[in-house]
Order: sequence, then C-alpha cells, then structure tokens
Amino acid sequence: MNNALYEFQRPVNEPIKSYLKGSEERKLLEKELERQLHESVDIPLIIGGKEVRTGNTIPVICPHDHHHILGHCHVASEKEVTMAIDASQKAKIDWMTLSWVERGSILLKAAELISTKYRYLLNSATMLGQSKNCFQAEIDSACEVIDFLRFNTFFASQIYSDQPVSDRGMVNRLEYRPLEGFILTVSPFNFTAIAMNLNLSVILMGNTTVWKPSSTSLFSNYYLMKILMEAGMPEGVINFIPCSSASLQNTVLCHRDLAGIHFTGSSNTFNHIWQQTSANLAQYKSYPKLVGETGGKDFIFAHASANPRELATAIVRGAFEYQGQKCSAASRSYIPASIWQETKKYVLEMIAEIKVGDVTDFSTFMNAVIDEKSFNNIMGYIEKTKQSNEATIVVGGKGSKEQGYFVEPTVIVAENPHYITMEEEIFGPVMSIFVYPDKQYEETLKICDQTSPYALTGSIFSNDKYAMVTACRILRYAAGNFYINDKPTGAMVGQQPFGGARGSGTNDKSGSYLNLLRWVSPRTIKETLIPPTHHLYPYMD
Ligand code: NAD
Repeated sequence: MNNALYEFQRPVNEPIKSYLKGSEERKLLEKELERQLHESVDIPLIIGGKEVRTGNTIPVICPHDHHHILGHCHVASEKEVTMAIDASQKAKIDWMTLSWVERGSILLKAAELISTKYRYLLNSATMLGQSKNCFQAEIDSACEVIDFLRFNTFFASQIYSDQPVSDRGMVNRLEYRPLEGFILTVSPFNFTAIAMNLNLSVILMGNTTVWKPSSTSLFSNYYLMKILMEAGMPEGVINFIPCSSASLQNTVLCHRDLAGIHFTGSSNTFNHIWQQTSANLAQYKSYPKLVGETGGKDFIFAHASANPRELATAIVRGAFEYQGQKCSAASRSYIPASIWQETKKYVLEMIAEIKVGDVTDFSTFMNAVIDEKSFNNIMGYIEKTKQSNEATIVVGGKGSKEQGYFVEPTVIVAENPHYITMEEEIFGPVMSIFVYPDKQYEETLKICDQTSPYALTGSIFSNDKYAMVTACRILRYAAGNFYINDKPTGAMVGQQPFGGARGSGTNDKSGSYLNLLRWVSPRTIKETLIPPTHHLYPYMD
C-alpha cells in the first residue's frame, strides 16, 4: 500500500462551455438530446450495487412537453427502503477503512468522466428532465457537479491534515471518524449538482447513504448514480431509492442507526423531517446531525446611486433564469423612486426579448416550471394579485399548461412592502418590487431585513460606499450569501460557499470544508510517551 502523506491540490473551477451556433459542443449536445428523446429508460432502484425493480413505476416526463415520456422509474416501498438501510450498513466498514485518498480519487474519476465522456449525457438529461436550457444545464450538471467533486476532495485533504499541537512527552492526534450509522440524503429537483453534493460530501468522509431523490429529477439523478458506480464507488456506499416520503417514516426516520440527514428542499419539508426526528429522539443511538438548506425570499436592494441598467440586468437574470426556480433567485426588489422609471424601462425592454419555450430551441432564455403543482401554485399568486388593490402586474401574468408548464416572466409592483408576494417564496418567474421614497433608505433596509422568514441570498446595488456599508450592516443577518453590485444567484463552489440561516436552513455552507465537518465525529487521541509513576506533585514538598 502506498504510504505517502498525500494532499490533493486546490483545483480550478471547471470552464463553462458556451454552446455557440456551429460549435463542437453544441453539435454533440444536440445529438445527445435527439438520442435521449428517442429512447425510453427503465430506471431501477440501486441497492447494494444491484438494480432492483419493484414494478410499481411512475413516468418520467419533460416539464416543457409533458406528453413526452422519457422513461419510467421504479418506486421503493418500505421493504426496499429497509434493504437500502441494510446495504448501507453492510458497506460501511470497508468504505470507512479505505484510505480517504482512495475515496477522493473515486470522486476525481467521476469528475473526469463528467467533464469528458458524460458531459452531454448529463446536461441533456438535466435539460429534458428538469427543463433547463443548455447554459443553465452546463453550469449545473457539468460545471457545478465537477466543482463539487474536485473541491470537496481538496477540502477533505485539508481537514484530515489539520492536527492539534503536541507538547513534549506526548503525541496528540485528531481522528476524523465518520458518523456512527448511516446517513439519509434527500435531494430537491432544481439542481443536479445538489443531488450529487448531498451524497458525495457525506461519502467522502467515510459514511454511506440512503438517497431519496426528488420524483421530478429522476432522469439526471439516475445517471449520476451510474457514473459514480463507473468511477469505482463500491456497492452499498450510496443506495438510490426513489420513494414516497411516507416510505421513510417507519423505516429510516425511526431507525436506531440514523446518524444524520443531509437535506435540501423547502423549509416546510425540512421542518416536517426535523419534527419527526425529534419525536423519535429516544430511539436513536446518537443525536442525528440534521443539515438542511431550505427556502428563500431573495432580494435585490438598490440605493439611489445604483446604475439603472446594471440593476435591471440583475433583476432580469436573477429573477427569471431557470424560471425563478433557483433557491437563490431574486424574488423581491426595493428600488428608490428616483431611479425606478429608468430601471423599469430597461426591465421591460429586456423582458420583451425573453423567449420562453422548449429546451431544444437554443434561442430560449426560459423554459417550463417543474410540474403541474408548481404551475398551479405560481398562477395562484398571480391570480390573487390580479384581484388585489395592493399590487399591480406591470408585465407578464399569463401561463399555459397545455403543452408544458409555461409561465411568463412576471413583474409585480406592490404598494405595500408586506404584500404576500413580497414575503412568501413562490419559486417561479415572479419578481415583486417595492418602490420607496429615496429619503427612506435606512427604514426600507429594515423592512427588507424583517419582511420574510428567510435569509438565503440578497444583493445591494450602490455606487455610494457609505450607503453600501450601511446596507451590509442592517442586512447582516438577512442573507447567508450577500452580493454587492451583482445578482444574488450564481454562487460558485470554492468561491462563494453557499447557504443561509433563519428559515433558509442550518447554513452549513455547501461547497466548503464547513459542510464536510458535519459528516465527521472527531476523536481526540493523546498518547503519553513516558507515563508518571507517582501521584504526588512537586508543589507539595
Ligand atoms: P421539496 O421540499 O418539495 O422536496 C425536496 C425533497 O424532499 C424531495 O426529494 C421530496 O420528495 C422530499 N420530501 C417531500 N416531503 C417529504 C417528507 N415529508 N419527508 C421526506 N422527504 C420529503 O422541495 P423541491 O420542490 O424539490 O425544491 C424546491 C425547494 O428547495 C425550494 O423551497 C428552494 O428554495 C429549496 N432549495 C434550497 C436550496 C438551498 O441551498 N437553500 C437549494 C435548492 C433548493
């Protein structure tokens, strides 16, 4: 066995391909889209490295063309969930005793596979199954997935090498033990990269997982699992079990060896999971570690010194890319009256250029929202606004679910800064704006801070340093990712560690060493070189 003290190098972020007309990457992606549109995939559960088919299947569809079925996915019952727990426990000892360098090199191989052989497969699956255009898929299922794999391997190497000092006569060590038991991972639909990260950060530190993917991102998530297996991940380390939340209740959530939950999704779901684990607390061997990144009501706050065109660009990109379904998507703005008319003019001009449609049409900026439930929810807020005397829709407001779940980019101007769409997470292409009197800058910053229960992302636009610093101070707890003169989306692994507090989660910062630390239970080992032989101390003479 290689006995070198090895450290992985700090990686650089995966370069983003541009998919220009006529480019090689565009041709390869179009070819892969064609292929996936003409096949039907049978997605099994994967338990202990084996494919399991329950016969109870759900269709996997394209949100922008919901009559098109990409395949069917088998759904686990309590029986298969229990099998997955057993498989994760069985795999644990070999996996945790394997050198972390070997575990890391499996992840690096997965990154290489995705960067080269499977880039278009994964991007195409994310485009078709989650309705992302080529650029949104490239930054998610290629670049961010790869960055998570490479950067976390580097962060793990830093963690393992961080050791306490040893005074003369002793040797002190920190052993970064994996948690005792198995980890449940529960992933959301909106980022293929999150599904990867929820699992990889946990297994990298020597744990094994039972993974419940979202029912609306199964297509890409299944391929992630296959790629990890091809990269050399041993059987049982991750167990892929699409299932209903009900199947987790009497199995995973009350299992004695549940050591942690790595969750990303809505705050309501996380609250529910937290309540269930609290109710089961007496049954667990250890206190399960609960890590949850949840909802947001992310803001853009402008000072009168802001440049209206820069502000408008941030509003349009921040609110409407991926149909406003990024957890970091801007969904409320506060704009001073003096620059509102000019900003509005640019926003309307930009929105007029936005094309909404099928992901295979490369001229689209926006595509479909994820499913009918989400479509109805978003349209519900829009319909309510049409009846309201507290807010007005200035552009958009229409939707259609005939072919796909399409919602127009919609801008609401609210008279009341506490109007419902200024406060609640809608998770769709709806931006609500409150226009404030220039003189009430600080008062309005306080309203922004206190308006919603969330605190995920936010940004300030200002060319006045004093105003910028004031915003940073008043909004200290309003966002875990705070941007200055930028949109509040687009965090990059290794550059802007991601996560928020308050109702937005436990703020364990995915894409940094902070998250990895949650998946270890360190043991301090002190070895005394020459133990004392008498119990009395010199001061007693
Ligand atoms: P969701 O809460 O509906 O679902 C997330 C996952 O939880 C899915 O796998 C779902 O099947 C599962 N689930 C649902 N009910 C459950 C239950 N009772 N027990 C166990 N599992 C259950 O969220 P979504 O619609 O997939 O994703 C959108 C939400 O995720 C938004 O609120 C968004 O803000 C949030 N999000 C947050 C971040 C972040 O980093 N803070 C990132 C992405 C998404």
